[in-house]
Order: sequence, then C-alpha cells, then structure tokens
Amino acid sequence: MKKTIKKLLFLISILSIGNILNAYNKNNNLDVKKPPVEIQIDNGQSGKGEPKDDNASRRGGTETIRNSAGSITVDSSYTAKGQNYRQRFVILHYTAVNRDGSLRALTGNDVSSHYLVSDQKNDPVFYLVDENKRAWHAGVSEWKTTKNLNDSSIGIEIVNNGDVSGKFEPFKDFQIKEVAVLVRYLIDKYEIPPTNILGHSDIAPQRKPDPGPLFPWEELNKKYNIGMWYDSSSKSMYENQYASTWNTIPAATVQSEFSRFGYAINQTGIWDGQTKNVIKAFQYHFRPSKYDGKLDLETYAILKALNDKYNK
Ligand SMILES: [Zn+2]
Repeated sequence: MKKTIKKLLFLISILSIGNILNAYNKNNNLDVKKPPVEIQIDNGQSGKGEPKDDNASRRGGTETIRNSAGSITVDSSYTAKGQNYRQRFVILHYTAVNRDGSLRALTGNDVSSHYLVSDQKNDPVFYLVDENKRAWHAGVSEWKTTKNLNDSSIGIEIVNNGDVSGKFEPFKDFQIKEVAVLVRYLIDKYEIPPTNILGHSDIAPQRKPDPGPLFPWEELNKKYNIGMWYDSSSKSMYENQYASTWNTIPAATVQSEFSRFGYAINQTGIWDGQTKNVIKAFQYHFRPSKYDGKLDLETYAILKALNDKYNK
C-alpha cells in the first residue's frame, strides 16, 4: 500500500514537471521568430519560401481538424473553378491629421485601414489590418452594384492634412512612390482591374473629399499603369461634339452618365445638391484643375471619354 502511494506521488511529481516544462516552452515560443513557412504536401513534395498565393499553395493534401466537437479529415485535392478574390477594390484616403494622430486613430476602436503611408521618410508603411480581414475605412459606400466596400476592399490611408481652410495640402513625392509600389503589389496579387482603384470620394461623394484634388491619379496611371485615366484624343472628340450644346444637356442625361461610370447618384432629373457633389468628386479625380461641382464642357467630355474606354 505504502509502495503504491509512493509510486503515485512519484508519477504526480513527474507530471507536474512536465507541465512546468510545457508552460516554459509555450512562453518561450512567443519570443522565438518562426522560420519561413514550409509547406508539406501529401505527395511527398515540399515547397519553401513565399509563394504568390498562400492559399493556393497550401492546397492539394489532407489535414485533420480536431476540436472539442470531434475530428474530421479535410481533403483539398479538388479545386473549384468558380471562385474569385474577396479583395476586389483598393480605396485611397488621406487621414486629415498628422502622423501620430493617424496611427492613434487607426489603431483605436473606431476606424482602421489595412495600410498607412506615413509622411516621414524613415517610417515603413504600416500594415495594420490583415488583408484577409475587413478594415473599417469606407463606411457607407457604393460603386456600381457594390455597396459597403469595407467587405470587398483594401483601404490605404495616407498621412496628409487634407483641406486646411480651403487649401489642400500636397502629398510628398516619396509618399506617392510608396503608394505606387503598394497598389501595384495589390493589383498583381488580387488581379484588381483599373476600374476598381478608387478614392474615398468616389465611393462616398456625398460625405467625403479624400484623397482630394492634389492626389496625382494621372501620374499613377501614366507612370505605373495604376487605375483609370482617359485618352486625350477621345476627350477632344467629345469637346468638339458638345462644344455648342453642352449647357443644354439635361440633368437626367448627365446623371445617367455618372451612374454608368459607377457613382451612386439619384436619377432626379434636376440639378440638385447630390448631383453637384458627384460632379465635384469626379473633378477631384479626373479634372483637378477646377473642382467647383458645376458641369462644364471639359468635365462632360472626360466623363464620356472614360465611359467609352471602361464601360462599353
Ligand atoms: Zn477616407
């Protein structure tokens, strides 16, 4: 009997040491940097490094999911053709506050973005929300048939004060270069079309001005093939065509052209405030030399040229 108790005590002490060791290892693991992911595939091959598509490269084998409800074997050797990326848009913003204020706001409880481009050259680009998760940057928003773009977009905030008593603050050259690298990377990774690279003002024209008229959309398009821009020959053609009639074009026609391009606009048939806001948002993006929200020949010609190019 005594022997049995001794044995039990011995066993208990061994188990406790085991637990302590386990706990030690667990804590230790937190500080250890994991080596690059090595992917094991059941057919005996293994891949190393950083694949272009993490999800795709993990496919092709079986794994077991085990939890308190039981266990199942999951086999991913069949792949469906009917699928696309959830990340279908890139939305650009300015933060309207300084670098520290931006970081504080975007890491708090209310708003967030996937990336933050600083206005300080020594800073990295901050990656705040995993690309596979939703960030809270778009709010109530709409483009073509898509609503609530937080669900389907990657949000990039750029540190910039925006509209300071009627004058917009210019972006820094290095910020634009960083944005170009980042957006190019996202376009390539998720196969995002040029029509889905937009500003906050495009998807929420009644509420938001950012990234504003100084954001160089034309430069991004011409230098890096990012986003949309019109062909100047097409614009000239429409300027000639509407030279004498542009100011007689009915509001309903203009509203339907904006709607065809992607803006959320009510087809009221009158020159109302919401139409003015959409015209202004469009001018911020495509005709930034004048953004008074009034339709003029050049604005209309650009809109027609863009619809020809992207919405045939
Ligand atoms: Zn914004």
